[in-house]
This record gives sequence, structure tokens and C-alpha cells, in this order.
Amino acid sequence: MIRKINFGAGPATLPEEVLKEYAAACLNYNNTGLSILELPHRGADFVDIINESTNLVKKLCGLGDDYEVVWIQGGGRMQFGMIPLNFLPPKQTAGFIDTGHWSQEAAEYTKFYGKHEVLASSASNHYRTLPNWPDIPAGIAYVHITTNNTIYGTQWDNIPECSVPLIADMSSDILSAEQDYTKFDLFYAAAQKNLGTPGVSLVAIKKSLLAKANKPIPPFFSFSSYVKKNSLVNTANVSAVYASLLMLRWIDKKGIAAIEQENNAKAALLYSAIDKSSIFNAVVTRQAHRSKMNVCFTAVTKEIEQLFNDLCKDNNITGIAGHRYTGGFRVSLYNAVPIAHVQTLVALMEGFEANL
Ligand code: PMP
Repeated sequence: MIRKINFGAGPATLPEEVLKEYAAACLNYNNTGLSILELPHRGADFVDIINESTNLVKKLCGLGDDYEVVWIQGGGRMQFGMIPLNFLPPKQTAGFIDTGHWSQEAAEYTKFYGKHEVLASSASNHYRTLPNWPDIPAGIAYVHITTNNTIYGTQWDNIPECSVPLIADMSSDILSAEQDYTKFDLFYAAAQKNLGTPGVSLVAIKKSLLAKANKPIPPFFSFSSYVKKNSLVNTANVSAVYASLLMLRWIDKKGIAAIEQENNAKAALLYSAIDKSSIFNAVVTRQAHRSKMNVCFTAVTKEIEQLFNDLCKDNNITGIAGHRYTGGFRVSLYNAVPIAHVQTLVALMEGFEANL
């Protein structure tokens, strides 16, 4: 079978070597005579998987003993709910930097637990830019930011230090470039983009923030209980954590510096093809605000959009349709997308335009 070129926004493409190793583990995990899909979550083999994954996150993100790393089921939205439930004290307000749908949805979940305030927003220009970093008013318990905006294609490059705990949704750009993760008091990422398969999130929490979570809440929703139980609060998503471990090993082997270089080259190649084109237009025009993970663009007419979509289909390319909120095209260039796939797409765009 020929594998498709997959530019989907998540579940996203995975490296072939990771898929092969996962496939072998589906039949017999580490000579246990059990499939990874059958492996007991409280057995030593899975504890080894959790511990290695956690240690790799700490190594790759440069985290010291002042951070805890846990693996929690439920994806990004589970974190939208767990964060205010654990960290928003009564009478205080959660601050949001609104850069589009995912920041808004995180804010919506917060309403069930307390107050929230949008401190900065780029809604007025349809999220085609990032807002200026705001001054943080008194009474803000923490600030929540979405580091990469999967739907609109903007990405923070330089996040300033924050005077209150800073919480980051890094679902669509975790481990895509070298950066200082210790800026964040908590960061989380649903795994299905840069870090594996759906159904689990990586959450890293600074111990000083964890100490502030003292509301009585059920263990399944409490970060402290995940820390105390080494992520084994209930039947863990064994196979999804294993997929994350394979991705972490793959990232570690390549090195973040090399991954960053390749991500920069992929994004530069595609944006430059769009900028040169007279039939495709980039959604985000400010260079400094452009996402290197999700490149969003439109065609000048619906007819051209349809023709190019059909051409991609005929050439084994999938996952380029824009999000249902925005239309147009969205090409996701996560870590596992090889530059050769972007070269193929760009050649197709150029050939298409030349023959139009
Ligand atoms: N945050 C971001 C930045 C996302 O891109 C997504 C999903 N695409 C989510 C959160 C939601 O994740 P989930 O579907 O796992 O709830």
C-alpha cells in the first residue's frame, strides 16, 4: 500500500519508523507475549513506559526537579476544564490571551468554575495577527495562552515573562523548536499532532503552582492525584502513552535543533511559494506572526480552490482542507512531515498555476 502525503492538522502524520515499531508492539510488546493494546496499566512494563516518557519530556524541555510531568486522558479539552477546576480560586479571575478558537474554547470552559477576562485579543482582525502582550491587572490568578493557533495559523515566537503564573496550550507546537519551557508554570499538549496519537495529553506543572491547588475535587480531575499516582489514577491510555514515547525517542534521536531547522525550512518553502503566487493568498501576512506548524491560505476563487483540491487528491495528498470555520487550505507541517512532502506540494502548486 502506498502511504498518502498527510498534511492533516491532527491526528497527524507519524514517522514511518514509529508506525513500524508501534505495529510490531501491537502483536508482541517487548517480548511480553502481549500486545501493547493488552498491556496491564499497573504492570512494570507500563510503569517503565511512563517513566521513560516523563524523563524524555524533562530532558527535551530542559525541566528541573521543580516540575512534575503527568499523562492525562481526554485530550486538550480535558485540560480546558481541569486547569480552572484546580487553579482558579473563588473570587479570582483567569486571564486569557485570545488568539482564536482554541483560546476562546478554553475560556468558555473556565466559565463553569469562575470568572475570566480577555486581556488581549486579535478578534477584530479575524485572528490574522497576534495581539500585543497586555499589562496584567491585579486579581488575575493566571494567564492562559495558546502558543500556536491551529485554525488561523498564527504562532507566538517570543513569549514575554509574565508577572502571574503563565499556562500554555502547546497542543500544536510542542517540541517543534528550541525554547525556554521554564517560562511556563504549566504547559500541556494533546498528543495527536507533534507527540503521538489522540486520547492523551502531556501536562508539565511547576511544583509551586501545584501547591496552590487545594480545592477538594475528585481525584480523576486533580493534578495532584496524577502526580501522586505517577499518572495511574484510572486505567491509563497505555497505547497512546506508548505512541508518545516512540515519538519522544524519535525527537530525541533527531535533536530539537535539527527539527527546528527543518521546520523553519519547510515553512519558508511553502510561505514563499504562496507569496510568489498570484492565485494563492496567505491568511497571515505578518511574517513574525506566521505559524510554522499550520500554514493557512486561500485561492482567489472557489473554482480554483476546488480544482487544486482535486489535483491534490489525484496526487495522493490529503488533509489540506482549511478548518470548517475558515475554509481555504491549511497545510500542517508538524515535526513528522518530511521536507520532501512540502517540496512535492510546492511543485504541484507551481505546476498548477503555470497551467491554469
Ligand atoms: N488546543 C489546540 C491548540 C488544538 O489545536 C486542539 C485540537 N485541534 C485542541 C486544543 C483540542 O484538543 P482535543 O481535540 O484533544 O480536545
